[in-house]
Amino acid sequence: MLRFILFAALAVAAWLLVKKLLAAAQSDDEAQPKQADVQTMKRCAQCGVYLPEAEALEKDGRHFCCADHRDQFHA
Ligand SMILES: [Zn+2]
Repeated sequence: MLRFILFAALAVAAWLLVKKLLAAAQSDDEAQPKQADVQTMKRCAQCGVYLPEAEALEKDGRHFCCADHRDQFHA
């Protein structure tokens, strides 16, 4: 009888652990939407460095890392 109680207790503990892990995995997905990490990278036409689109300067359909390179660039 003692052995059965021990087994049941282990089974309940294992089940609670699995439930806790599943809940943690789900809350991670909700806290960090995959789309939030996606950032479009643009390449500076003058020096070739990659930078986020939000920080890039655009001119004539080309992207630049800074105003100097934008002004230096000659197509
Ligand atoms: Zn540049």
